[in-house]
Amino acid sequence: MNRSKSSEAIILSLHASGENNTSVTLLTPEDGVLYATLYGGPKSRLRSYVSQWNRGTIWLYSNPEKNQIKITDFEVKKYHNSFSQNLFKLYAASLAAEIAIKTRAAGSPEQCFRLLGGFFDGMELCNEEQSRLGLIRFLWRFIELLGIQPPVHCCGICGKSFIDVNFAKDGLSYYNVNENNFICSECGEGSFALSNSALQYLAALSVLTPAEARKLQIDKNGFEQIKQIIFFLIENSIEQKLNSIESGLGIL
Ligand SMILES: [Zn+2]
Repeated sequence: MNRSKSSEAIILSLHASGENNTSVTLLTPEDGVLYATLYGGPKSRLRSYVSQWNRGTIWLYSNPEKNQIKITDFEVKKYHNSFSQNLFKLYAASLAAEIAIKTRAAGSPEQCFRLLGGFFDGMELCNEEQSRLGLIRFLWRFIELLGIQPPVHCCGICGKSFIDVNFAKDGLSYYNVNENNFICSECGEGSFALSNSALQYLAALSVLTPAEARKLQIDKNGFEQIKQIIFFLIENSIEQKLNSIESGLGIL
């Protein structure tokens, strides 16, 4: 067995381990979430590279006897420095990392890596307002990756199209938890109400590229309604509360 290998990686979190070492959680496209040890004190060159949210090529050495993976080198290709200067970005990145860890990369490491990497790179280039939409897009796609995305293009009962131009933009629709679908107001009420325009926004997110999606408009209320449904879907699927959502209340 080859004990040394290199891989693309995103640094998700770091914790002090012992006096001089750091326990590092990272995401790779091949193995998903990995836990590795970084040896060396605060002055080590490697330690300055292996910092939270950095993406690049990592070199790892496995010691199966000790059941341990050691980081031997890291070449940073993308820094995400703006995350430490903006509270929303910091919490959004923490939420994305927490979801990746708790879902074990959604069981699809390669797609999870691509989604998370794209979200981080996009957020680095965007202001806070654009990043808020970026978080919604990321979570909605992650929900799709988890296989729990409700069908959003038409009413789950009567089949009326939500993306039809004749669909009343000022009416209400509902998300129905029991059936994991969206229904129109004529078919009854569900667990979460949302405006028809918010529902259309969500439907559009599923079919548009990130660049196209960025041009869509959504009002504050619709945005909050979508956010509540998406947070619910994620927490419901992993059957636990997410610390980043709890601690980021009022920020996210
Ligand atoms: Zn209906």
